Amino acid sequence: MKTIGLIGGMSWESSLEYYKIINQTAKKKLGGLHSAKCLMYSVDFAEIETLQRQNKWEELTNIMINIAKNLKISGADFIVIGTNTMHLMADDIENKAEIKVLHIADVTGQKIVEQGLKKVGLLGTKFTMEGTFYRQVLKDRHQLEVVIPDEDEREVVHEVIYQELCKGVINGPSRQKFVQIIANLTRKGAEGVILGCTEIPLLVKQEDVEIPIFDTTTIHAVSAVDFALT
Ligand code: GLU
Repeated sequence: MKTIGLIGGMSWESSLEYYKIINQTAKKKLGGLHSAKCLMYSVDFAEIETLQRQNKWEELTNIMINIAKNLKISGADFIVIGTNTMHLMADDIENKAEIKVLHIADVTGQKIVEQGLKKVGLLGTKFTMEGTFYRQVLKDRHQLEVVIPDEDEREVVHEVIYQELCKGVINGPSRQKFVQIIANLTRKGAEGVILGCTEIPLLVKQEDVEIPIFDTTTIHAVSAVDFALT
């Protein structure tokens, strides 16, 4: 079994889910008392969020590269970045820390293609929805067409992520807003929706919406164990 190097704390609300799913999956696959070999480096998210808001992406990239290097020295065989947003610097981490990064958009894209879908909606932080780093992976590696919410809806999704979900606040009216935004994505032709922020699955469940959801936290965590066992 390979050792997973999990970069967590962004936020810890979703890192908890990663840790749980990774170990549940290892137990399911191997049985008995098996659990996953895993190292987690958990950041102080307030420091990260401040730099994101200030658009200090170079500084953030250096922080992430250093964490990956530390995990590698400690024995990690590959890196799992427990946030969609911080895949913005996934290539730099892989190249500069010289360690494989199991890309969240890549494993999610694979799942979508397996289900025969061609056009999907994407919910996440503004960085994830509006930037090219995430959508490009879905397009180039999986030939998927991606639709995103309108500007005012993107604002709502972004604010709920940082003001509620990353603080552990799960709020019914916010769920209703997300359900409406997903319905609007369906009208734009989305056949499924990527919950492209690792905290959104804490708020929106499959039973809340009509189209298939792709929970990036679960997909990524399960894929990490699959990869660890190959
Ligand atoms: N966990 C979120 C994500 O998957 C947002 C937190 C962050 O900005 O890293 O994008």
